[in-house]
Amino acid sequence: MALIKGCTNIQCGQKHKEVKFKEDDLFCPKCGKELSYVCGKCFAPLEEAAKRCPKCQQKIDDRKEKVKSGANKVVGAAKVAAPVAVALADFPGISKVAKPLAAVTKKLPGGKK
Ligand SMILES: [Zn+2]
Ligand SMILES: [Zn+2]
Repeated sequence: MALIKGCTNIQCGQKHKEVKFKEDDLFCPKCGKELSYVCGKCFAPLEEAAKRCPKCQQKIDDRKEKVKSGANKVVGAAKVAAPVAVALADFPGISKVAKPLAAVTKKLPGGKK
């Protein structure tokens, strides 16, 4: 993803509209102020060339961590539920009873670690 720039002049309408400029644009065509790198998410002006501000980067990192641990949990549950799901798959009309059965499945021995 390319870095984006923005006009950080509060008086300038470009800032208000969060108009994004290309990296090689140097000055705001409206007010003439030198463009600075801005965060691609919240449009906060950045000290150095970066895709996003530390705040937004932190948020993204946090989410990645959550997704990682969440995915592990899902995989673990899938392993336990998989044989049951396969057994139920060729049972006609299963969609009607799938939910109650799923609740029962949780209580089955062997479901716990
Ligand atoms: Zn401007
Ligand atoms: Zn940001």
